Amino acid sequence: MEQQLQGNELGWWLLSHAGKLWLPKGEIPHGYAQDFGLKGTTAHRIGEWQSEAVWLVCQERDKEMASVRQLLNEDRGLFQLAGRAVQLAEFYRAHQFCGYCGQKMSISDREWACLCDHCRQRYYPQIAPCIIVAIRRDDKILLAQHSRHRGGIYTALAGFVEVGETLEQAVAREVMEESNLKIKNLRYISSQPWPFPHSLMMAYLADYESGELKIDTSELLDADWFHYEKLPQLPPPGTIARRLIEDTIAQCRAESS
Ligand SMILES: [Zn+2]
Repeated sequence: MEQQLQGNELGWWLLSHAGKLWLPKGEIPHGYAQDFGLKGTTAHRIGEWQSEAVWLVCQERDKEMASVRQLLNEDRGLFQLAGRAVQLAEFYRAHQFCGYCGQKMSISDREWACLCDHCRQRYYPQIAPCIIVAIRRDDKILLAQHSRHRGGIYTALAGFVEVGETLEQAVAREVMEESNLKIKNLRYISSQPWPFPHSLMMAYLADYESGELKIDTSELLDADWFHYEKLPQLPPPGTIARRLIEDTIAQCRAESS
């Protein structure tokens, strides 16, 4: 997987360091390794896009290092590969030494892992499962303004899955903690790798069951039931949150007509 570049390798070049990507003019560079001064550099082939190789190089450039968020409106497959690149680069950077014995580690050439040759420990990239749920009550949707979001958008409730918890329990707990509500009719919809910094979002729809809305002010600035035709500022297209909200709007509309 890891290889030294000869210079004539063709493809898309994801240069990543510290959670950022090199995006000259806002785009992922495409061409031969030598075009970008990468001859002799170590690279990892991490996938294919538009029938060409996608390469990760753990390297920082002086200028135009940017967030993967810039690629949110690009093709879904490309966004996913960019997220993979950034997460792997961070994984390798954070696992140079073994957490058990402190010895220097090596990168596996068979899988995305780091190996301790001293105590034989094996480390894999961390993925943090996260649930997100859109809750409907008749012709209204529960939307919240999270204190961690900038820009005042309203979105679905979300939170991390805790150790020793099922996804269903995580949804019920997060909804209760953040809004004091009970839900029913939970349906799994879809998932999306979310590389900020290493989440996997699992998206659900649910219906309101009982309880009075009372928000957790440590996590939320505001939350309310919004009629599907009078919605506040929503998350951008391309996010799974937006898809959940749009699915809920479609349901409201279908049942009101
Ligand atoms: Zn070790």
